[in-house]
Amino acid sequence: MNNTNNRKKLAFFMAAAIFLLSSCSPKKATAVQPNNTDTNTIKITATFYPLYVSLLNITDGVEGIELSLLAPPDTGCLHDYQLTTKDMKKIENSNILVANGAGMEDFIEKILETKKDSLIIASEGFELTDNNSHVWVSPEGAIHQTQRIVEGLSHLDPSNATKYVMNGNAYLLKLQNLRNHMHSILDEYSGKKIVTFHEAFPYFASEFNLEIASVIEREPGEAPGPKELKEQISEINSIISDGNKIALFAEPQYSSSAAEIIAKETGLKVYELDPCVTGNLKSEYIKDSYITAMKKNAEVLKEALAK
Ligand SMILES: [Zn+2]
Repeated sequence: MNNTNNRKKLAFFMAAAIFLLSSCSPKKATAVQPNNTDTNTIKITATFYPLYVSLLNITDGVEGIELSLLAPPDTGCLHDYQLTTKDMKKIENSNILVANGAGMEDFIEKILETKKDSLIIASEGFELTDNNSHVWVSPEGAIHQTQRIVEGLSHLDPSNATKYVMNGNAYLLKLQNLRNHMHSILDEYSGKKIVTFHEAFPYFASEFNLEIASVIEREPGEAPGPKELKEQISEINSIISDGNKIALFAEPQYSSSAAEIIAKETGLKVYELDPCVTGNLKSEYIKDSYITAMKKNAEVLKEALAK
């Protein structure tokens, strides 16, 4: 295991070094111009909360940057998000737009098309599973998205590229430490089965080699019907009666009524896994909120899987 960890570390630092080299010479021709004539402010808009947290880290201390968030920070995933006129204006007035991609922003696909010269797609280049868009819900995915955002910002705003790369590397180091920390807690539960609440955890499960035995709601708001719920309950009960351990997880952002019914019918306890999609913009700890939430997820999983 030490060997694997060392290899992982080495691979990470090599990737970081290559990344640093390649990002230091962005093409000047693509630099965005501030569109506000009064100031030199560069307006960067993130479509949703997890990207905003990455941006806070990457643009930390960079002067002349104005960050904003399109969907309010309590929105959660954007699966059911309805765009407002105010949102349209915000997109229009942004110099740089940062989106998750992989289908998360399907509702603004046409608008994104018109902004493609100033658009950063954080999931670009990440190998998707079943076209699932929840890339950030694994340390590996968060590392990919951070790298992609740093590359994109350095390309679009080359005058601040050095700062983005430095900040980015500092945050990437934190994310890599988080990843190592979570592996040190979760590797002993490799192969265990979990039931999750919405389709947010395939990358998380794959990173820690957990098996998603069932997903209660495919996406938030699509509560399972009585027939589907009954099937899920009998499926979970048969896994349990085969002598397997299984852990049931709801999410803080969404109603847990279906999870409660399943818990009652299977004797499982409901734990909470946080897909890190909501937060408080005024929190003084917001920059570390992803890392804090993921550490807590590791602790919760350990507690649930150790039973
Ligand atoms: Zn989602």
